[in-house]
Amino acid sequence: MKNIILTGDRPTGNLHLGHYVGSLKSRIELQEKGDYEKYYIMIADTQALTDNAKNTDKVRNNLIQVAIDYLSAGIDPNKVCIFIQSQVPELFELTAYFMNLVSVSRLQRNPTIKEEIKQRGFSNTLPIGFLNYPVSQAADILAFHANVIPVGEDQLPMIEQTNEIVRAFNNTFGNVFDEVKALLPKNKVCARLPGLDGKIKMSKSAGNAIYLCDDEKTVKEKIMSAYTDPNHIKISDPGKIEGNIVFAYLDAFATEKHFEKYLPEYRNLKELKSHYQKGGLGDVKVKLFLNNIINELLTPIREKRKELEQNVDYVYELLFKGSENAREIAGQTLNIVRDAIGLNYQKLLNKK
Ligand code: ATP
Ligand code: MG
Repeated sequence: MKNIILTGDRPTGNLHLGHYVGSLKSRIELQEKGDYEKYYIMIADTQALTDNAKNTDKVRNNLIQVAIDYLSAGIDPNKVCIFIQSQVPELFELTAYFMNLVSVSRLQRNPTIKEEIKQRGFSNTLPIGFLNYPVSQAADILAFHANVIPVGEDQLPMIEQTNEIVRAFNNTFGNVFDEVKALLPKNKVCARLPGLDGKIKMSKSAGNAIYLCDDEKTVKEKIMSAYTDPNHIKISDPGKIEGNIVFAYLDAFATEKHFEKYLPEYRNLKELKSHYQKGGLGDVKVKLFLNNIINELLTPIREKRKELEQNVDYVYELLFKGSENAREIAGQTLNIVRDAIGLNYQKLLNKK
């Protein structure tokens, strides 16, 4: 079976380094490898509304921002169908059928949902739509018969939920869907890049991110403020690597080439870490090294972004065209699903 790839992001803010290492980088690698039949990237605006119902401007404005981030980072619209979730209403019909196959308590046990409910302060105000978004996400994936889903670690419970729905649907209505597979980054720290505060994962909604569109000055300020080891006060003090965000980012981004170019007195990260742990290496030196690496990555992305910002209509047109294509495929799946469930009333008419 050839691969059908689907992945996406919520338009709740610009994309950040967590998106880059967690998903965007492997999306671009998959695109370049070309080993797929179809490849979709969805901007999940309807999902974003589930915790932004009164903040519709935020979602509306960030749609184009996320699309520009994709194209600036190297997603090629000739190879990938980029579409807008809300413009494919077939997804919501499919969600409605799936909702009957999942219990409320199952959704309440989803660990990512649990953490996000806490983070957003939902207690008695939890919207049904928010609790239900894993079901809607299953519809997004299965409407396209996607089987490869490049995601960060926080999405694993959603993939598990999708596969439960596949089994429940097939058991109830006959074999229509195949199980799907998450594609996680190999490097553990990339699957859940921590935020600058060192507390939770880097996230648009938590205000702890370095964005792909941040300018050089902002990136430097953010890196200089990143959480390190609070007990590493004097340069001569031994420092801790565990929980040290700057080293987590180096784990995710630093290569030996970076050492050659920016910090030749060390050969690799192992040597740098060991000096830090022994004492005698200051945070500022490590942070400036990280700053060079991140700016090297972001400079070409920023330049491409500038061009695209002059041509926003072109980006919207791409999204509209992508959404039309997506509607056609999702519509075909829905015909099969309605048939399987028995909602094919036209057939009854033809019998008479
Ligand atoms: P929000 O706070 O609005 O939920 P987010 O920053 O979590 O936004 P999403 O749009 O929910 O971003 O996630 C899009 C994709 O990026 C998902 O595949 C998710 O797993 C991945 N991702 C998000 N944050 C990280 C991170 N810190 N590390 C690795 N992958 C991440
Ligand atoms: Mg998220």
